[in-house]
Amino acid sequence: MTSSTESPSTPLCILGAGPHGLALALHLHQAAPDIAERAIVLDPSGSWLTVWREQFERLGIDVLRSPSVHHPSPDPGALFAFVQEHGLGRSGLTYDQPMSSAFMRFCTSIIDDAGLTDPIPERAMRIGSAGDHLRIETSGGSLLAERLVVASNPHRRQIPSWVVPLLGCAGPTINHAADIDLRSLSDLSGQRVVIVGGGLSAGHLAVGACARGAAVHLVARRPLMVRSFDTDPGWLGPKHLRAFDATESPTQRLAQASAARGGGTMPDWMVNRLHELAAEGRLCIRAGVPIATADTINGHYELTLADNTTITGDLLWLATGTIPDLRSLRALSPVLPDIATVDGYPVPDRDLRIGRHPVHVMGRLATLELGPAAGNLWGARMAARRITHAITGVDFEAIPAGPGSGRGRFSRR
Ligand SMILES: Cc1cc2nc3c(=O)[nH]c(=O)nc-3n(C[C@H](O)[C@H](O)[C@H](O)COP(=O)(O)OP(=O)(O)OC[C@H]3O[C@@H](n4cnc5c(N)ncnc54)[C@H](O)[C@@H]3O)c2cc1C
Repeated sequence: MTSSTESPSTPLCILGAGPHGLALALHLHQAAPDIAERAIVLDPSGSWLTVWREQFERLGIDVLRSPSVHHPSPDPGALFAFVQEHGLGRSGLTYDQPMSSAFMRFCTSIIDDAGLTDPIPERAMRIGSAGDHLRIETSGGSLLAERLVVASNPHRRQIPSWVVPLLGCAGPTINHAADIDLRSLSDLSGQRVVIVGGGLSAGHLAVGACARGAAVHLVARRPLMVRSFDTDPGWLGPKHLRAFDATESPTQRLAQASAARGGGTMPDWMVNRLHELAAEGRLCIRAGVPIATADTINGHYELTLADNTTITGDLLWLATGTIPDLRSLRALSPVLPDIATVDGYPVPDRDLRIGRHPVHVMGRLATLELGPAAGNLWGARMAARRITHAITGVDFEAIPAGPGSGRGRFSRR
């Protein structure tokens, strides 16, 4: 990878150095090292996987939800082999989900092995057409790119309607899970924390708040749903994807993908932990009753549930998720009118290209082509394969590499 100031023209610019941008860089490195060498990766953090690492550390998450075959490397078996080779700790969970620390160590190792340099610490500010290229103006300069891959995970926060009247009021702070850093909250004793949401992040926040001595309410609009993974594994193969692929209407595809993800769910080990905390009297679970209204009274919150019961709290934490939205990437505004979208989701072709400009998408933005697991680590590898094939003609799918089959098996078609 190179620097924007040294080389204002590049065959490929990747926006975002998260797991998805990394997966593409690694696939390209194997398939076409010459292109990978001249590609430019932009990420304001200036390092790989910053948001990923931060979201795990902020919420105190020490194990992944997905099994160890899912990670940015082209070889599905590489993480498992790495953990064994280095004698790293295992989670002992049913699907041998990797420990967060092992996952990060593995990623650092594959970044080093591929010789990837740090991303350029700049943010894309404006992306416009320049003949058959794109001109990308960044926080530090500008560059011309033959192709752009959006791997920056643009999204907006999901804010429940009952929260909206509170937003302009003076009162205690409302935090979205994306802003909460449990590391900076060493002691919450005497605090009443209300956590809203039924997903795994809500569970981690509840465990973290209890550990810090808070009196915690976990409020979810439906009963806690136990599911090992956030998306049924049938969506990672033909079982569900065949019908999805056969659906032509992007609106119907979005409806299928949204239904498949449903609301928040938690693996059994988290639900069991929450019930233990409830049995110890440290947590009150109010699941299955939606919140109707909310008010601030004397410096605390009062939430009224649909069954007319009330909950008071000093801190209100919203673990209500985020929604992908291409429009949140303001830099793309000049080319947005040329891109078809449904509720903020772009409509990509098989190469994950959107519209007439040489722009591809990865992550949740690829949902209408890859299905509901597009934003997960599984989706990172799928999108990396598709885009690598579009750029180089190299097909990683032609000879599927099973676990332990060795790195970098692919063919050219
Ligand atoms: C708490 C949590 C746990 C998760 N655990 C799992 C799991 O165990 N397994 C799984 O499969 N999935 C998991 N996911 C889902 C998903 O894999 C992660 O959200 C993952 O971080 C998504 O990767 P990404 O590369 O799309 O986006 P991100 O990790 O968000 O990376 C995007 C990058 O783009 C950069 N960026 C933003 N704007 C710009 C710009 N304008 N220009 C340049 N760069 C920009 C950001 O700085 C960031 O580094 C989890 C999600 C969360 C929230």
